[in-house]
Amino acid sequence: MTTLQTHILPVSADPLADAHTQLRSAIDELGYDDSIFEMLALPRREVAVSVPLRRDDGSIEILRGFRVQHNLSRGPGKGGLRYSPDVTLDEVRALAMWMTWKCALLDVPYGGAKGGVRIDPRNYSTPELERVTRRYTSELSHVLGPDTDIPAPDIGTDEKTMAWMMDTYSVSQGRTTLGVVTGKPIALGGSVGRADATSRGVVHIALCALETLQITTDHATAAVQGFGKVGRGAARFLWDAGVKVVAVSDLYGAIFCGGGLHIEALEEHVERTGTVVGFSGTDAIECKDDLLLLAVDLLVPAAVEGVINGMNAGQVKAKLIVEGANGPTTTEADSILADNGTIVVPDILANAGGVIVSYFEWVQANQSYWWTLQEVDDRLKARMYAAWNRVHMHARTRGLTLRTAATSLAVHTVAEAHKLRGLYP
Ligand code: NAD
Repeated sequence: MTTLQTHILPVSADPLADAHTQLRSAIDELGYDDSIFEMLALPRREVAVSVPLRRDDGSIEILRGFRVQHNLSRGPGKGGLRYSPDVTLDEVRALAMWMTWKCALLDVPYGGAKGGVRIDPRNYSTPELERVTRRYTSELSHVLGPDTDIPAPDIGTDEKTMAWMMDTYSVSQGRTTLGVVTGKPIALGGSVGRADATSRGVVHIALCALETLQITTDHATAAVQGFGKVGRGAARFLWDAGVKVVAVSDLYGAIFCGGGLHIEALEEHVERTGTVVGFSGTDAIECKDDLLLLAVDLLVPAAVEGVINGMNAGQVKAKLIVEGANGPTTTEADSILADNGTIVVPDILANAGGVIVSYFEWVQANQSYWWTLQEVDDRLKARMYAAWNRVHMHARTRGLTLRTAATSLAVHTVAEAHKLRGLYP
């Protein structure tokens, strides 16, 4: 059984404030003046829409939807669409800004965007979710497009959601437009290797970082928070690489097995039950967030924002955190972790595999020419390794955290694009 899952944002999380602090650090590091900060702190365009939904019982519900295009200097907006009951405009603004930095850092020719609908998809039927998706797409069709803004799956959405968006947009344009979304089913112009690209990228980066810390994979232990599209694949590829994954969690609970989880069998359990909870041979972790405090080499938060924060960062024992999720570490936590010597590989580098293969999908769709899985995987790996080397070297040379190094490199790229384009009129 596959269920769409969603998240509850921790009370302490203020992703937009964190995104602004990260931008400020990068601007200071680059020696830019305040006008650049102000230009990059504000989104280029924001749209908020009402999404009326006729429920299966005939009643009408009005949902809130958002799309934020943070920056379009380097190309069309790019970023996921999130279905979550507590999504806010500020959260979407932060996520859109992080997409701008991610695309710039990985040299993918896009700006940054993000969308959200305030809905808990677990409580709606598939036909209801289809109607929500189609109405949301229709409300936004004037700001979407393969050369304008290209959504992809995120929390609570999947390839089915992308198929409905592509169809709705195509009908509005009078022609099939495969390039308007990425993360589509393969049969509809999706790319091989896209579904698990984010997880693959997370693991490429985790292995680079473990090597830098001189921790060999067959001695390494890991914990993964979240067992959705990103966390599940991350656990699987870590397991494939010989890393002992001792704990995983989802919205319903966390499980632990000191000898290491058999990830393939766990995936079968999740297919059947919809949760990691109750997987045989494991102990339940009473408070699921305690997974974040386990004494492991590698921690991969792959669920939601703000989970490592001022309240728990001092108790984190992992040597290395690789951010599968966007914004899992707050600014306050970042400085506590840096003081304690914990290495944090930031989201804009660690989870960029998804947008890289989204770019490959868009290129293939626009050319109607399809690559093999080997080609996709090789090109993904090459880009992830190159970005890791660049960020790691920059951090070392300048004495920066990996987050400030990555954000500075990205902000520099975007600011240069702005300067070259100039101001109109
Ligand atoms: P998803 O909806 O597929 O999975 C989310 C998972 O997190 C589920 O297993 C859910 O049960 C779990 N979860 C939610 N709240 C939790 C909590 N408090 N504790 C433990 N588990 C919890 O979403 P996803 O696509 O895997 O996205 C996860 C994160 O990765 C998000 O931050 C997203 O923005 C980011 N991300 C996703 C992609 C992508 O390609 N899907 C790319 C880059 C970044």
